[in-house]
Amino acid sequence: MDRVPCLDWHEGRHFDHTRDLPCCLCGRPTPMRSHTKEPVHKVCAETWNAACPQEPRRYTAPTKDKPEQHDVGTWRFHNDGPVTDIRAPILGQVITTNSLSSGPREIESPRQEQRGLFAA
Ligand SMILES: [Zn+2]
Repeated sequence: MDRVPCLDWHEGRHFDHTRDLPCCLCGRPTPMRSHTKEPVHKVCAETWNAACPQEPRRYTAPTKDKPEQHDVGTWRFHNDGPVTDIRAPILGQVITTNSLSSGPREIESPRQEQRGLFAA
């Protein structure tokens, strides 16, 4: 079996001090909670993420310093911290694209060297 990526659940919200509830995946009691307060063992959530690659993914929010986004789990179970539900275009590429296409006219009649960029 492939290596299962670990979730980063350092926030206190993931631990319910008041009671254990049956894990939504394996049924055994757990004090752990997902972001949506689903009772779930962390390892069960990690295994579920790995077993469900078709689930909608979440990514780290891009910043100027770190434009590269990283997969942080599924919409259901994901890492703590700022995340986005879609992989945004690399910030540097956005700036480049914006400076290249200043108006719709260029898109309608792309110059020879730009043709590849707009080909379907
Ligand atoms: Zn479990």
